[in-house]
Amino acid sequence: MSGKDLEKELLWEAPHIAKEAPEQRAEADAFCEGYKKFLDASKTERECVKASVAMLKEAGYTEFDRTKTYGSGDKIFWNNRGKALAAATIGTLPLEEGLRLNAAHIDSPRLDLKPNPLFEKNEIAYLKPHYYGGIRKYQWSAVPLAMHGVVVKADGEAVTVSIGEEPGDPQFCITDLLPHLSAEQNGRKLGEGIKGEELNIVVGSIPFIGEEDEKIKAPVKLMAMKLLHEKYGITEKDFTRAEIEMVPAYKAVDIGLDRSLVGAYGQDDRVCAYTALMAEMETKAPAHTTFTVLADKEEVGSSGNTGLDSDFLLHMIEDLAEAMGAHCNTVLRHSICLSSDVNAAYDPTFAFVYEERNACHINKGCVLTKYTGARGKSGTNDASAETMAEVIRIMDENGVYWQTGELGAVDVGGGGTIAKFAASMEMDVVDLGVPILSMHAPFELASKLDVYNTYRAFHAFYR
Ligand code: MN
Ligand code: MN
Repeated sequence: MSGKDLEKELLWEAPHIAKEAPEQRAEADAFCEGYKKFLDASKTERECVKASVAMLKEAGYTEFDRTKTYGSGDKIFWNNRGKALAAATIGTLPLEEGLRLNAAHIDSPRLDLKPNPLFEKNEIAYLKPHYYGGIRKYQWSAVPLAMHGVVVKADGEAVTVSIGEEPGDPQFCITDLLPHLSAEQNGRKLGEGIKGEELNIVVGSIPFIGEEDEKIKAPVKLMAMKLLHEKYGITEKDFTRAEIEMVPAYKAVDIGLDRSLVGAYGQDDRVCAYTALMAEMETKAPAHTTFTVLADKEEVGSSGNTGLDSDFLLHMIEDLAEAMGAHCNTVLRHSICLSSDVNAAYDPTFAFVYEERNACHINKGCVLTKYTGARGKSGTNDASAETMAEVIRIMDENGVYWQTGELGAVDVGGGGTIAKFAASMEMDVVDLGVPILSMHAPFELASKLDVYNTYRAFHAFYR
């Protein structure tokens, strides 16, 4: 036997997909056109739920009704407060054979406005944010921002806010120092380049000038509030009844001369939300009932009643089990859950934070992450060998390109996903998702071939 043959028989390495399956490039390009549109329409968790519900209804899903009975092929969804969502397709097997559950998250790091955000300083009007999730604050200055959110007025009317997305809309910006005057700032540690209370968002610079020559305390602030009032009928007090998120204003684009990557805000984790949703909708008569969850609040530890550290998912599964006459605990024990989230793609520029052989690499397919955590796997779900074997079997049998990945080298840092919350319900769970470059930056990169193979993995998992 030649060394080459023996190498092929005994050793394993995930290939570059474009080398092994060049035909997938066109398929991935086409798939990502829809993905980019979804990203542009879904810059917040609420917008993501809205866009997803519209897609689900179009695909024949109806809202779960506990008084109804459901049979094989029926498609249903749950909307949790407009901020989290689940969709299911009833399988041909009894529900107690377990679900094929797939949970992604639809919140992304951003700047939330404080409850009392509007102020004026030296005749410039600003909005004050409190950042949400893990951001590197210096990355958020000197980039165009858009305003998204909801304001619930005193009379209960909910007003949807969106400024900065339509052509011709004004946008917003956090200022930074010019290099000529940044000697002192340059001496700060990178993490303090822009401090939390320096994330002041410019929203105006023209004062309100009244008919009489009266003294107004903050005329530029007043002008900004007047313009918001004209557009949305809101007053300053209404900020206390609002959730307004400042996010990058730019759209998703192709990156690279070969257009091999998607560049956009919020790909963590809407890349898994979109691929999961597309696979869910295309699944017609699965053996196991599919269950696709789009959760909120992952970036702040899955807390709150729209995050997966609450019982909302358990309650949905209990709802379904009851309607199907199944024993919920048996359903959970027999279920497999993909915790669908992104992983850190190996970045040659910053090779020192990775262990190359165990990092995921762009263009090698979706990444199976056995464990996350920090230090000695602290806080991890750590998928069992049996769960890994089952998911790998499904992917191999369906020609899905996949690889393994750890989040960085040992003791460099770490992180977590929703995996441990799904596992606490006694399901078998493993993380699977897309390698991302510049994760959590206002502009993240993903390989189209990886996005496409993640969709293919979910499709195979459901079928
Ligand atoms: Mn994530
Ligand atoms: Mn994240």
